[in-house]
Amino acid sequence: MNGPALTCSDCGAALAPSKYRKGTRCKGCTARANSRSPEARAKASAAMRRAWRRSEERAARVASMTEANRRPDMIELRRVLGRQLNNVARYAKPLPAGHPSRVQAGRTLTERRIGWCPPAYRPLYSHLTEIDGFRAAEARAIVEKQIEADVSAMRAGQLSPGQFMAVREAARWIKDRAAGRASHHEAVTAKQSEPRA
Ligand SMILES: [Zn+2]
Repeated sequence: MNGPALTCSDCGAALAPSKYRKGTRCKGCTARANSRSPEARAKASAAMRRAWRRSEERAARVASMTEANRRPDMIELRRVLGRQLNNVARYAKPLPAGHPSRVQAGRTLTERRIGWCPPAYRPLYSHLTEIDGFRAAEARAIVEKQIEADVSAMRAGQLSPGQFMAVREAARWIKDRAAGRASHHEAVTAKQSEPRA
């Protein structure tokens, strides 16, 4: 036989004669061409949707996926993929515990979450949110009510000396914090040179 040498029309690789080959490409180039062709892709996904709609085929697929998902190697693969997807360390190496930046970040978080709460009442707040299951706003309202009640009791002389000290401390803390915020606010407005009433 003296016909032209059989080669892939895309990559020029030698092709073994095959009666199943429909085009002029090798296997790899056929797959590549198909995946780049919108019509071929539409056809493949339509076929997939049709197959998915047949209930016995769907059940078989679900069963085989469920089975595969139980295999230890699949579980490990999922774990690896998840780690890659969710790997913060890819972008930022975690700083060692106690690093000033971490300490500062922790403080910022605490301030944002319970900065409003006097230190003496933070255990109560934590108990309400972490153990009693109150949401942040509800827990805050309860703590604020409690502080109000405690301050009234203190003024009415109804507290033990220990309670008195704790509540007075908390009341001062709240006052100082409010004053701190007000002076900060004043500094800001003064900088903006707005007239002050
Ligand atoms: Zn090829």
